[in-house]
Amino acid sequence: MQNNLIQWYYTNHRQFPWRRDEDPYHIWISEIMLQQTTTEAVIPYYERFLQKFPTIQDLAEASIEEVYKMWEGLGYYRRAKHLHETAQIIVEKYHGVFPQDHQDILSLKGIGPYTAGAICSIAFHQSTPAIDGNVLRIIARQYLIKENIAHIKTQKIIYKKVAGLLKNYDASAFNQGLMDLGATICRPLHPKCEQCPISSSCLAYYHHQQNILPISIKNIKHKELHYITGIITYQNQFLLIQNPSGGLLENLYGFVQYEKESPYSFVETFENEYHQSLNIASYIQDVKHVFTHRTWHMHIYHFVLNEPMTSLYTLQQITEKPLSTAHQKVLKTYLKAQGLNR
Ligand code: SF4
Repeated sequence: MQNNLIQWYYTNHRQFPWRRDEDPYHIWISEIMLQQTTTEAVIPYYERFLQKFPTIQDLAEASIEEVYKMWEGLGYYRRAKHLHETAQIIVEKYHGVFPQDHQDILSLKGIGPYTAGAICSIAFHQSTPAIDGNVLRIIARQYLIKENIAHIKTQKIIYKKVAGLLKNYDASAFNQGLMDLGATICRPLHPKCEQCPISSSCLAYYHHQQNILPISIKNIKHKELHYITGIITYQNQFLLIQNPSGGLLENLYGFVQYEKESPYSFVETFENEYHQSLNIASYIQDVKHVFTHRTWHMHIYHFVLNEPMTSLYTLQQITEKPLSTAHQKVLKTYLKAQGLNR
């Protein structure tokens, strides 16, 4: 796989001004510019920037206004600010010579693991992975990695794989080969596997999974939700509602609960929704239930209806209803508090 990719890169690589040499300053500037911007848009900015600031020293000595001026139109001005600050650090701490140590580079402002990896491998030929979205995608396909590549855990697995692949190979050509392959052939949608130099080692291609992988689902965050959960009774009956189809706990039965902070606002919301008056009888207890992507903190209160309404069930009838696990816990807690066992 490595040989195929590197050979392909040698003969097919895209021509960019920052690929004319291996000067770490040039590679650094281009990588920072490329972070949020397409290659085509970066080219004229890159050329003008280096004409104005041909060396790290020139950049360090410029005013921030001059740097911003050269950045005008590229957006994300913090990048320009970090470039300027880092140039000054390199002049002061490293006598104007770009450091070669991976950790030293990582400690510079605005340089994350990807950029540090790119500089170390391209400028200094160190065996350092440079993992961006392209690489995550290609490696997930090559190795049929079905885990979510948006997760740090999966990214670490991929980092290790690339670190292993790089050993004893031309890391510069390998990393840049992955960059070019991701941009031109192993695209997110409809990869051109027939033209791919590493298709013979690609498990996704072999198993016809290249249009499914990688799995990349962002923003699945664990939510903490707080509810007032109501054990609402009328004489010896309990009010249960059925969850609608299509949502969490669909069609299961449960108690009424609202995302409120007080039983008083619970009563207000309930009365508006059901047009029934309700009294707060007592606070019972807090109960927690953990789902895959959310945790419910249920603050249980006992409420009493003034009049009967539909959907009231005796304890015996409740045992015949499919009750959500979370609300089974709620019921148990209530019964225990009342000295009753189900
Ligand atoms: Fe990507 Fe297809 Fe090449 Fe596999 S064979 S790395 S899916 S382009």
